[in-house]
Amino acid sequence: MKKFITVSISLLLAACGLDQAPVEPVEVAVVKSAPTTENQVQVDRFADIQVLSYKVPGFDELSLREKKLVYYLSQAALSGRDIIYDQNYAHNLRIRKLLSAVVATYGGDRSSEDYASLLEYAKRVWFANGIHHHYSSAKMLPGFTPEALAEMVRQSDPSRLSLDEGQTVEELLTELQDPIFNPNIAAKKVNLDPDIDQLATSATNYYRDVTAAEAAAFYAGRLDADPDRPVSWGLNSQLVKADGELIERTWKVGGMYSPAIEQIVFWLEQAATVAENDVQQAWIEKLFKFYKSGDLRDYDEYNIAWVADTDSRVDTINGFTEVYGDPLGYRGAWESVVSIRDLAATHRISTIGGQAQWFEDHSPIMDEHKKKNVVGISAKVITVVMEGGDAAPSTAIGVNLPNANWIRKEHGSKSVTLGNIMESYEIASAASGLSDEFSYTEEEKERNRKFGALDSLLHTDMHEVIGHASGQINPGIGTPKETLKTYSSTLEEARSDLVALYFIMDQKLIELDLVPSLEVGMTSYDGYIRNGLQLQLRRVELGNDIEQAHMRNRQLVAAWVYEEGQPDKVIEKIVENGKTYFVIRDYEALRVLFGELLAEIQRIKSEGDYDAAQDLVETYGVQVDQEMHAEVLARVEPLNIAAFAGFIQPRLVPVEEGGEIVDVKIEYPEDFTGQMLELEENYSFLPVTN
Ligand SMILES: [Zn+2]
Repeated sequence: MKKFITVSISLLLAACGLDQAPVEPVEVAVVKSAPTTENQVQVDRFADIQVLSYKVPGFDELSLREKKLVYYLSQAALSGRDIIYDQNYAHNLRIRKLLSAVVATYGGDRSSEDYASLLEYAKRVWFANGIHHHYSSAKMLPGFTPEALAEMVRQSDPSRLSLDEGQTVEELLTELQDPIFNPNIAAKKVNLDPDIDQLATSATNYYRDVTAAEAAAFYAGRLDADPDRPVSWGLNSQLVKADGELIERTWKVGGMYSPAIEQIVFWLEQAATVAENDVQQAWIEKLFKFYKSGDLRDYDEYNIAWVADTDSRVDTINGFTEVYGDPLGYRGAWESVVSIRDLAATHRISTIGGQAQWFEDHSPIMDEHKKKNVVGISAKVITVVMEGGDAAPSTAIGVNLPNANWIRKEHGSKSVTLGNIMESYEIASAASGLSDEFSYTEEEKERNRKFGALDSLLHTDMHEVIGHASGQINPGIGTPKETLKTYSSTLEEARSDLVALYFIMDQKLIELDLVPSLEVGMTSYDGYIRNGLQLQLRRVELGNDIEQAHMRNRQLVAAWVYEEGQPDKVIEKIVENGKTYFVIRDYEALRVLFGELLAEIQRIKSEGDYDAAQDLVETYGVQVDQEMHAEVLARVEPLNIAAFAGFIQPRLVPVEEGGEIVDVKIEYPEDFTGQMLELEENYSFLPVTN
């Protein structure tokens, strides 16, 4: 519940992943470019999916001890892969093994249409950790027939299929016929329709022979010793009916999924021996204690210890975490993320945060709306080293854990954005040609390639750290949520964007050594106008208004400055060969306009001026220029941009001398299929039936 929803590649990029309401789906910002030399992040493309690689800057500078720690935690992250497949659907492991066997050993014609469609189906299954689409949750149907599958299986190594004792290959294929080919069997992974039994119609493997009503009654009877500190009942078990009675099959050492969990525990135990400090060692130990006991009170103890560790360089999420996959919201999908702190981002953010008062004092808002003691909002950025289970290949770009509300309240939580993952998304976007298509001059395209990535990082940081922290409400006026109601979040985002836009063109950033020149600001302005007036429309269905608060804010800002600047031609609209471009002719004048709008929006917030809020948002932020919308969709279409993206993982290779690890090397594989077969080979710990 606290994870920002996985972003699709066409929904680049989260500006304020860490906004006040982290529960909401990820928001989406300006599409930016990155240096051309780094453009090669796409390693595979199939169906609606793009697979990207990500780099791990800073890994080589880690100490040997830290590298070992990262390595052990990464092994733990990979060891739980089978669990998520089985959680998603009871037949997933058997199907995955069948597909992997054919891809690895098929001796027939690999240039045939049937094999091509089998390979695509296999990739889709690997990407989704099962046969249901990772995002829509609908069953993915293969493009080959049962007969073609049988033929390909016959020409593959039968020892790699997981046959039951005495089972023939034909019997296995018969068993899997419905799960793979029948669109009416297990049609959806998760069905949330409240009017039917969600458990009967969801394919997830969290319950067996249990109705939604029985499960609800089962947990209603659970009493908490301390009602203010409720245990996360059901988080780590499958609920089944046996001999008419409901029992939990707990995921722990000695319980369900034991062979995989034993591996996870083994690596966590290694990790504890090289912990950076006592605080970190304590939570790692509490984590494997929980895997051994299966006692959810141990899980709470672990989380409390984990949030207390704010100093360590290395961190991990490892466990049964998010409950979206359970239609009833009890059971946690297994996932893992291993990371190191992003020192460059940390430096950037603390530099901006350290100057928060300077920015407030120099803001174009009215003096009485300025804070006298402004404190920058701190934001944390991590560099991902490895993701596993439900966190891979498709990943979130921000995480806020733990999920238990009472722990968050009493002990705090960790909220982070995944910096290198975001950067990889950006690079992919730049390579997609999207920005180029809507840029009028070569100069603009070139500048975007040079400074796009830096601009995007800075804009995000400034939006978060000084944007949301800025301004004050007049005495006696209620909060914007009370006074501006439905318009409050759009205007809050607009204000934060405007703070970033206003100051990204300020000499102060050069003084602080955050940018090499104001060209970064120009890049930012180009991108913001392009996105607000055109690009973001590609995510809206033709004929619809803009609903999403962040999208409303961006159109509002861009459309307002365009209109206000028209007498002086600050932004020129050019139509050439049926293509519309918005070209900024006067960046300094545009900055002044951003400042004026910022002052006005802060006034609306400070005074709680509902009528002005309504007028501004409804006039500029909601309605879509239908002709422009159709044009944008037509220009984006030929670029064939994938709807979703996910990641191939780096490979960590320990260098051993005399049985001792003396170094850990990091490699960046570029073969998605190869990595999936490698994982099949080295990290398959569970039987196909659990
Ligand atoms: Zn924001």
